[in-house]
Amino acid sequence: MQHETQDDLVQPFQIDPFRLRGRLVRLGPAIDRILTRHAYPAPVAELLGEAIALAVALARALKYEGVFTLQTKGDGPVRMMVADVTTSGALRGYAQFDLEKLERASAAAQASGNDLLGSVPRLLGGGYLALTVDQGEHTDRYQGIVELNGATLAHCIHHYFRQSEQVEAGLKVAVARVPDKSGAARWRAGCLMIERLPIEDELQRDAEDEGWRRAMILMSSSTSQELVDPALPPEALLYRLFHEDGVRAYRKRPLVARCRCSRDRVETVLRALGPEDLADMKVDGRILVTCEFCSAVYAFAEEEIAALAER
Ligand SMILES: [Zn+2]
Repeated sequence: MQHETQDDLVQPFQIDPFRLRGRLVRLGPAIDRILTRHAYPAPVAELLGEAIALAVALARALKYEGVFTLQTKGDGPVRMMVADVTTSGALRGYAQFDLEKLERASAAAQASGNDLLGSVPRLLGGGYLALTVDQGEHTDRYQGIVELNGATLAHCIHHYFRQSEQVEAGLKVAVARVPDKSGAARWRAGCLMIERLPIEDELQRDAEDEGWRRAMILMSSSTSQELVDPALPPEALLYRLFHEDGVRAYRKRPLVARCRCSRDRVETVLRALGPEDLADMKVDGRILVTCEFCSAVYAFAEEEIAALAER
């Protein structure tokens, strides 16, 4: 039997009798690479891991060629998060947070004995979540926005689907640190998404309603541990959950942690600034630009800055 990787992939599936389609996202080394490199405090890393896994699940729901971005902005300890994924499966993400606020929020949650608030009100606060599809220059950008009014990111996206897209969709996401074979803790993430295709045959409505409800119950019966378990192959999890309803798995799509930043892109951004802004950015005669996604540093010397200012 051909050995296939069970990690860093999207596994699309369909539950034919009830016209349900879904995706199971499994992230191992890719998410570990992103979250370990940033070395954020655990609550921030977990939330960004959720955002990245959700972005992958949502991106696959849309037909597009380009970049799908999930972004949050809020007034809580985590000011901003960006997670994006390209059609070819390249992932990246980062978060901006206020450490003091984060520590206060953690202390408050501990002092109250239990953490009743979900991660969204506790870490993101009030604000919004935006989903954007960018298919490159000279094309329309699609953007959907929803307020951060759920306990978790998955809840917020659920609201978004109901309000904006009028699509019935269920989402479950999990992020955890799981020991690898050598015993070292590695970040892992998983996301299960199921959506319902519009009813075509009224005679099938009752059966499809029932199938949808069953699928939601089965999905909620899956545990976070199952979603991130490296020993449980994606097909095995799908079979465990939905075999009675006739689940069919399609070809897996690989995912990889890869940033798209480049010196060219940074130059384009700098060139768009005026000479005064460039002068303001200079430190000791040069400009250093750090990519927020991958921490790559691009340095520009005096003569290069002068050339950029000339446009
Ligand atoms: Zn980068």
